[in-house]
Amino acid sequence: MTDLPGIVVTGASGRMGQTLIKLIGDSDKAQLVAALERPGHDWVGKDVGVAIGGAAIGVTVTDDPLPAFAQAQAVIDFTSPAATVAFSELAAQARAVHVIGTTGLTDEDIETIGHAAHHAVVVRAGNMSLGVNLLTKLTRMVAEALDEDFDIEVIEAHHHHKVDAPSGTALMLGEAAAQGRGVSLKDVRDSGRDGITGARKRGDIGFSAIRGGDIIGEHDVMFAAPGERIVLRHMATDRALFARGAIRAALWGQDKKPGHYDMMDVLGL
Ligand code: NAD
Repeated sequence: MTDLPGIVVTGASGRMGQTLIKLIGDSDKAQLVAALERPGHDWVGKDVGVAIGGAAIGVTVTDDPLPAFAQAQAVIDFTSPAATVAFSELAAQARAVHVIGTTGLTDEDIETIGHAAHHAVVVRAGNMSLGVNLLTKLTRMVAEALDEDFDIEVIEAHHHHKVDAPSGTALMLGEAAAQGRGVSLKDVRDSGRDGITGARKRGDIGFSAIRGGDIIGEHDVMFAAPGERIVLRHMATDRALFARGAIRAALWGQDKKPGHYDMMDVLGL
C-alpha cells in the first residue's frame, strides 16, 4: 500500500461501483483500500479485481462496513437510501469523508446525514458532473431573470433499471429554479401528471421522467412562455463522468472541516 488517500467503494458490483473501482485502479492520486457489498451478495469474499473481470488486486469484497471505513480516508457511496443513511453514521465514526451519490433520499434521510456531518465531511450531490453543476447554476440565473410568464419544466431520461423518479439531478435543477424564483420547491412541485390534471398552475415547476434502454442521464430545463422557449440541456454519455467527480470530491474533502457540502463547493462554482 502507498500513502495515497485510501478509498472504500460501497455497492462494488453496481454500475457506479464497478466504474469507480476501475477508475481508482488507474488513478495516481488515490488507492482502493476496500470494496463493500450487501450481506449475501455473491461477490463477498472474492477479489474485487477478479469480480469486475480483470486481474486480482488484493482487495477482497466485504460486507462489514465499519472495519472497511476505519482503514480509509474516504467512502464513495452509490448504493440505496437505507444503506447510505446507515453508512453516514459509520463513516463519521471512522472520520472518513463520505461522498454520497445515492439518490432517492427522503428529507428525513437527509436530516440524519446532516447529524453525521457534524463530525465528518459529507459531500452529497444528485449529480457529480461539472456540466450538470454548471447547468444548475445557469438554471438558477435564468429563473431569477424571468418571471412566472415562463413555465418551468424539468424533463429527464434514464435507463430502464433506475428505481427513483424524478432523478436526483432533476430535483437539484428544480431546487435551483425555485431558489432563483425565491420560492420553496415543496410548494410548487408538480410531478407525474396523468389523467385529468386540470390546467397547469402558474408558477409551478413541473417534472417529467422518461425511462428506457441504457440512457445514462439526460436533463432539460425548459422555460416556456407564449411565443418563445429557452431550453438548457445536459447529456451524459459516459458513467465515468460521475465517478471522476466523486473521486475529486473525496480528495477535495481531505483537508476540510466537518460539514455537509455539495459539488458546487468542490468545483468552486
Ligand atoms: P446499482 O443498482 O447498479 O448499484 C447499487 C449497488 O449497491 C448494488 O450493487 C447493491 O448490491 C449495492 N448495495 C445496496 N445496499 C447495500 C449495502 N447495504 N451495502 C453494500 N452495498 C449495497 O445502481 P447504480 O446505477 O450504480 O446507482 C446507485 C445510486 O447512485 C442510485 O441511487 C443512482 O440514482 C445514483 N447515481 C448518482 C449519480 C450522481 O452523479 N450522483 C450518478 C449515477 C447514479
